[in-house]
Amino acid sequence: MAENVRQVSKSERVECVSTRIQLTENSTTCDGCGESIEQRVQYKYVTVQGSSGRFTEFSFCDEDCFGETF
Ligand SMILES: [Zn+2]
Repeated sequence: MAENVRQVSKSERVECVSTRIQLTENSTTCDGCGESIEQRVQYKYVTVQGSSGRFTEFSFCDEDCFGETF
């Protein structure tokens, strides 16, 4: 497990799940496994609303990483 994996508390709920494609050259880091998502690769983009009403965005390289976190 990578050090930058974020913890999702039970009070947070998934607001929106969409599929995106990494378009910029700056790679996105998967919040599940910590691997970087390379350019032109499809990934899951999740918006979570916390108890405070604040939105947090997560990116996952695949279904497995998404399932492990939520
Ligand atoms: Zn991953």
